[in-house]
Amino acid sequence: MNDAPQPVPGTSAPSSLKARARRVLQHLDAVLPNVDALYADLHEHPELSGHEARTASEVASRLEAEGYEVTRDVGGHGVVGLLRNGDGPTVLLRGDLDALPVEEKTGLPYASHERTDDGEPVMHACGHDVHTACLVGTAAVLARSRDAWRGTVMVVGQPAEETLEGAKAMLDAGLYARFGTPDAVLGQHTAPLPVGTFMHREGVAMMGSAHVRLRLFGRGAHGAQPELSVDPVVLGASVVMRLQTIVSRALSPLEAAVVTVGRFQAGTRANVIPDEAVLELTVRTEDDAVQARVLAGIERIAKGEAAASGAPKPPQVEVLGRTPVNRNDPALLRRVRDAHAEWFGCDALVPGVLVTASEDFPFFAQGPEHPVPTAYWFMGITSPKAWEQAPGTTPQEKVAHLPGPHSGFYAPDRAGSLRTGCESLTVAALACLHEGGASANH
Ligand SMILES: [Zn+2]
Ligand SMILES: [Zn+2]
Repeated sequence: MNDAPQPVPGTSAPSSLKARARRVLQHLDAVLPNVDALYADLHEHPELSGHEARTASEVASRLEAEGYEVTRDVGGHGVVGLLRNGDGPTVLLRGDLDALPVEEKTGLPYASHERTDDGEPVMHACGHDVHTACLVGTAAVLARSRDAWRGTVMVVGQPAEETLEGAKAMLDAGLYARFGTPDAVLGQHTAPLPVGTFMHREGVAMMGSAHVRLRLFGRGAHGAQPELSVDPVVLGASVVMRLQTIVSRALSPLEAAVVTVGRFQAGTRANVIPDEAVLELTVRTEDDAVQARVLAGIERIAKGEAAASGAPKPPQVEVLGRTPVNRNDPALLRRVRDAHAEWFGCDALVPGVLVTASEDFPFFAQGPEHPVPTAYWFMGITSPKAWEQAPGTTPQEKVAHLPGPHSGFYAPDRAGSLRTGCESLTVAALACLHEGGASANH
């Protein structure tokens, strides 16, 4: 028992957070060399979504060495590590394991030279190696300071984030049924903000997404005899142009959304009118109901334009994948942000802006019986020197000139990112866990 104030049931005692964080993070200096070695190793040996066997094994063995009960191969290469430490909330800490088919151009000594068997380059261009290394570092300091907190820590190494499949695959594999439904889920992502700064947004942190494929059917003919055809290229062009009216005409100016046609394929020769055209679209919205309206609009326009062209049959509209919006639980987000303010100081917090990119993290909010509170924040990784040298005076101008996620030049400040990333996840976890010695009264 310690003589710290007892927390109010269901909450932690704010006055003791910094003291508890010090007790846990006193182990960070001992842990950081391992975190750094793991980071450099993962960075040099990235694995694409669904192929994270080596990464998962590195994570699993390190969690086992710290005393976690580890289960491998949960929904693909997913890793689950449990540390039960008395009565208290269960807090899920999530890190993503996968890399991208991007060629690394950083020139770093630990740069990736990996290629797939097909010759495709592979790089940790989204900073998931930072997330994973900090996840393992956080797991280690929590395991070494069990007298400072009570509850259960569930460490999740999630595969296949970039394809937006891994979180759902882990849940479908019974993550919550097998290991318990958590009381809080925490995740963090790198961003080209200054290292040591953090961005939290109340409400929606990131847009939801949908990936849509349209197959438009026409009738092929000689290029010199268009009157014998139903030209799917002209039909497709009309669809592309008309789709632009969804955001501009069918939604309110206050409803943020993106409709992008990223792929338009048709035909093989200049003088042959083909039989069909294929379009692939990405849809981003700030609200799941708006996403449903945009998807309905896409289908309506594709069918309407096909009918107007005299197409021999209606288009095929397939939603190949979708993610909900990444919505923070208000109370949990405030608790995490307050904890970060207490630990790092208020100057370390950057005003939250809506990110139009998407994540499969929100699937963790889908509990079997009720929604699970989730909180997701961004951590800065840009070195002070690079930040200073970036053109511009406002953060927005500087960020626009710095390499961001999915760039071959994305190069997080190694020491600063790993230290502050371990601290931010640890402090957030402690804000959710009970204080050491506290009764099981939550
Ligand atoms: Zn990414
Ligand atoms: Zn990412």
